[in-house]
Amino acid sequence: MKVCPNCKSEYQTGITLCPDCRISLSEKEESDPIEISREQFDQPLVLISTIQSPAVAGMVKDILEQSGILCSLRNQYFGGQRNEFVLGGIEIWVPESRVEESQQIIAAYIDN
Ligand SMILES: [Zn+2]
Repeated sequence: MKVCPNCKSEYQTGITLCPDCRISLSEKEESDPIEISREQFDQPLVLISTIQSPAVAGMVKDILEQSGILCSLRNQYFGGQRNEFVLGGIEIWVPESRVEESQQIIAAYIDN
């Protein structure tokens, strides 16, 4: 399934241009919001990694969520002040059923 990035019309695969807007269609999968499955919210969270850089931790969270994995960052801020980071780093917590998958995703990301 293809979708027009301008008018959001959907077209069958094989059509490459939106006949109305005359611009290239993109894969529909790219624009679909990733759903985080409900059962993950009922599971205990497991600490899988501690990351020093807030920017890297934020990117890891985005990558995990794009893979449909519920991700929680802890100890991100000290005393509620957004500009004071805890020295120990930022903990990445994920549901226990997704631990292995999450570790693979983080390993692949950090290797790059
Ligand atoms: Zn269009």
